[in-house]
Amino acid sequence: MTDCIFCKIANHEIPTTPVFENDKVIAFNDLEPQAPVHILVIPKKHVASVKDVEDLEMMKDLFDAVQKIVKEKNITDFRTVINTGKEAGQSVFHLHIHILAGRPLLWPPG
Ligand code: 5GP
Ligand code: ZN
Repeated sequence: MTDCIFCKIANHEIPTTPVFENDKVIAFNDLEPQAPVHILVIPKKHVASVKDVEDLEMMKDLFDAVQKIVKEKNITDFRTVINTGKEAGQSVFHLHIHILAGRPLLWPPG
């Protein structure tokens, strides 16, 4: 999608240092990290939210990347978050998984 910031990152229209990249997925550090580790994992194909995923193979590709990233970084304890909809905190309407780690994370999150 032309005016989607994450599509621009996925297409390398905005210079980004990827944490992980393959043909389907790219991961990069969050601009405003909420923990010492705060990585966003996104599909290269534009999908607005998890509700809009048609082929669930996409979720497999994303979580495959999550596993590879935490393994490579020796992260044992982490939280994955997918916010869906404004009320749930979604601010960028291109599907993304947050990986948060490096500090104690409160539960329930509020
Ligand atoms: P959401 O609130 O939609 O679940 O998460 C969107 C996340 O994207 C936020 O944590 C926000 O800091 C991050 N973000 C928004 N714009 C950019 C950007 O241009 N670059 C990067 N690296 N992160 C961004
Ligand atoms: Zn997009």
